[in-house]
Amino acid sequence: MLSVKDLHVYYGGIHALKGVSLEVPQGKIVTLIGANGAGKSTLLRTICNLVPARSGEILFQQENIVRVPTHEIVKRGIAMIPEGRRIFPNLSTYENLRLGAYGRTDDVEIEQDLQWVYKLFPRMLERKNQQAGTLSGGEQQMLAVGRGLMTRPALLMLDEPSLGLAPILVEEIFEIIREIHKQGITILLIEQNALAALKVADYGYVVETGNVVLSGAGDELLHSEEVRKAYLG
Ligand code: ATP
Repeated sequence: MLSVKDLHVYYGGIHALKGVSLEVPQGKIVTLIGANGAGKSTLLRTICNLVPARSGEILFQQENIVRVPTHEIVKRGIAMIPEGRRIFPNLSTYENLRLGAYGRTDDVEIEQDLQWVYKLFPRMLERKNQQAGTLSGGEQQMLAVGRGLMTRPALLMLDEPSLGLAPILVEEIFEIIREIHKQGITILLIEQNALAALKVADYGYVVETGNVVLSGAGDELLHSEEVRKAYLG
């Protein structure tokens, strides 16, 4: 579904991605793990064309999307949930979700998707009229994921969804990722929580200073000596 080939990205003089290649096959959960500053968020931002690629290819459903504008990439079926729950604090929960469907005109399906999001996150239904800025951190994270789902993505990219959440909510988020995946949505997941991420993932990539240094099936990486030492403590 998504195929990244020899991708190079710079921020001014900083070479943030140094020839990254990876594959996200349809229907799979793929995770990127790696230390802070390794380039994981940069990769997601570049896929959405929020950051320009210097060279390399990003194929989504066989088409190179490197120069495609971000809104068009969303329309083609990629949703990204950035780190840090960027919701609209002055709008209600419902309004935030509805904005996820901005540009869609299939009202019947939009309503179905909204009901699906409420089913995944019953708390969002309970709090649908609450100003989103007053939701708890965990609720805002759920809202951010819900809003991404309202674009009806084929590929959902999540940047550290468990960051800053209490352990019980971390479990819940991973449970929800499984649930979303069961609905046929392909997932690319960035996580600091390597253990939880590798447990849900079909495949994983380890990123270090702008390079993929290791990759393999989730359970393979889970048992790899290198990964255990560096990321699982
Ligand atoms: P984290 O887990 O801490 O978010 P990451 O793996 O997602 O880390 P990136 O955010 O992709 O890492 O950053 C990769 C490198 O690019 C870092 O050295 C970072 O300082 C640098 N970088 C990121 N964004 C910018 C920017 N807007 N301008 C300059 N340098 C940047």
